[in-house]
Amino acid sequence: MRKTLAVFLFGILFLSCANKSEFAQNAKSKDKPMKDKIMKSDEEWKKELTPEQYRVLREKGTERAFTGKYYQNHEDGIYYCAACDNPLFTSKTKFESGSGWPSFYEPIPGGIESETDNSLGMARTEILCARCGGHLGHVFDDGPKPTGLRYCINSVSLDFKKE
Ligand code: FE
Repeated sequence: MRKTLAVFLFGILFLSCANKSEFAQNAKSKDKPMKDKIMKSDEEWKKELTPEQYRVLREKGTERAFTGKYYQNHEDGIYYCAACDNPLFTSKTKFESGSGWPSFYEPIPGGIESETDNSLGMARTEILCARCGGHLGHVFDDGPKPTGLRYCINSVSLDFKKE
C-alpha cells in the first residue's frame, strides 16, 4: 500500500515537473522572434542566388521598373522571400501602384524589418526580410487605405506561391 502510494506520488511529481518544463519552453519560444535569423557569408549567398537576386537582395540593388515578373501578377497567393522562404506579403494587400514594381499596402506581421536609407541624397525607409536581412525595397507613405503605405518591392526578391 505504502509502495503504491509512493509510486503514485512520484508519478504526480514527475507529471507536474514535465508540465512545468513544457510551460517554460513555451514561454521561452514566445519571447523569441517567430523564426530564427539566417546568417550566411557573401560566398554562400552567391552560390544560392542568381546574380540578379544577389545584386538586389545582398547589394541593395533595384530591378528596372516594369521588368519584374510580379508587378502585373494578379493571382491569389503568398509572396515569400526569394532567399530564405520567409512569408512577406499576401496577394490580398497587393495593389496597382503604376510604379512598375509589385506594391503592397501591408506586410505579413513579423515578415519584414525597416531601416533608414540615406543613399541617393534622399531619406527613405528601406524594407528588409526579417529572417535573412535581404533587401526587398522601400516603403512610402503615398499608399492606399487602410494603411496609407506603399511597400515598393523588387520582384526578384520575391518568390510567389499560388494559394
Ligand atoms: Fe529572407
